[in-house]
Amino acid sequence: MASDDDEMKVMIGLEVHVQLTKLHTKMFCSCSSDYRGKEPNTVTCAVCLGLPGTLPVLNKRAIEFATLLGIALNSKIQESMFFFRKNYYYPDMTKNFQITQYDKAGGVPICVGGELTFTTGKNERRVVHFRRLHLEEDPGKLQYEGSITTSPYVYVDYNRNGSTLVECVTEPELRSPEEARAFLKKLRSIIEHVGIADLSLEGSMRCDANISYKGHARVEVKNISSMKEVERALNFEMMRQKQKIKSGVEIVQETRHWDEVRRVTISLRTKETEKDYRYFPEPDLVPVTIDAKELKRIKALLPELPDARVLRFVKQYQIPAYDAEVLVDSKSMADFYEAAIKMFNDAKDVSNWLMGDVARRLNEDNLDISETKISPKALVQMLQMIKDGTITGKIGKTLVKDMLDGTMPADLVKKQNVKRIDDEAILQKIIDEVFAENENVVKEVKEGKNPRTFEFLVGQVMKKTKGQADPEVTRALIKKRL
Ligand SMILES: [Zn+2]
Repeated sequence: MASDDDEMKVMIGLEVHVQLTKLHTKMFCSCSSDYRGKEPNTVTCAVCLGLPGTLPVLNKRAIEFATLLGIALNSKIQESMFFFRKNYYYPDMTKNFQITQYDKAGGVPICVGGELTFTTGKNERRVVHFRRLHLEEDPGKLQYEGSITTSPYVYVDYNRNGSTLVECVTEPELRSPEEARAFLKKLRSIIEHVGIADLSLEGSMRCDANISYKGHARVEVKNISSMKEVERALNFEMMRQKQKIKSGVEIVQETRHWDEVRRVTISLRTKETEKDYRYFPEPDLVPVTIDAKELKRIKALLPELPDARVLRFVKQYQIPAYDAEVLVDSKSMADFYEAAIKMFNDAKDVSNWLMGDVARRLNEDNLDISETKISPKALVQMLQMIKDGTITGKIGKTLVKDMLDGTMPADLVKKQNVKRIDDEAILQKIIDEVFAENENVVKEVKEGKNPRTFEFLVGQVMKKTKGQADPEVTRALIKKRL
């Protein structure tokens, strides 16, 4: 008999939709691909709306970008391919079909296979394989008021319609929601290093996930809008399936929707198969060829990728591999780091601050450093002030939040009048005050009953100076005074 562990083995596969936001125009027309923040339904044309008499023209750079990503992920780039129509009705798509690629009926996606190596939270190296990477157009966007189930109406905005997506389909090799998050983090870093998308943009990286327990039916969860939501959605869906299986109810093969507002998955449709989409070759587009010469040209465009960058950081800046990996996990963080150490000659100090106080703040607000206003110059200015003794490290920590909002640390120090106080005359005066106000405590310290009372006195000096007193000088002065 199988053990309980075998029986509850979960298999997770992801379909990651990456919008190639660095393309200037949409996939088949000359509309700007920069539609975010624009008035709804203003970034459209007859082609991306699919009006009668119009024909799509393929954006050549879309092929180049997808090829670059395929090379970065060790996929096999196809020499020749064509597009398919996936037919279905949904209000976010005016044509009633989506132009995509298909791996059956003689079709091949632009990239076949591939793999990604990443490190889990438990510091385990894992490899996840890709089934394929294919190109397709993005549909428009439906907007609900609050939850999809309770919204009294739905708006449709076609601005996104026709933007370029690369869909990265993995094998069901992920074993937990945490692994899925670590995998996506690495994928994001690779994509940003390749330079084909800015994934801090809203909706630029979206996921569908298929989840099944060994021996049970597979459920697909659609519309997970960001990397942050993936872990949540997977955790919920695993719990739902586990409860069913344990109480003897069979899992139904179905497609479910992730409701971000209520944080539950809800059933959308069952018994849907590929057949229902009536895939057929797109007759309005010619086949695409990427010959050896073209492939060589594109390969030469590939910039430094995360794994190579980690190795270079270790060698060039003499920092531990762990630090290098954490920094390179986000391209903007790694860029920030390199800009900072050009101005400040202590590579380890800079990485300590970035991985410590800065990263902590970013994690709290779920932000990437590129989404804040801190500059490498600001960080370096603060480190310089600590180094030359203008402020204490403790004060530095209190400045990080405002620095992330764009204020320079020197201005903060001036405004808040926070400076390291090591002037013995000033500190002596404050210590006199503390001693006068805490006669009983001073007596206790002198009697040596409770060593913690000494730290209480240090704390009182800190409190009176708002953390600016140099702790070493303060301790020495109190000892002397006792
Ligand atoms: Zn258009």
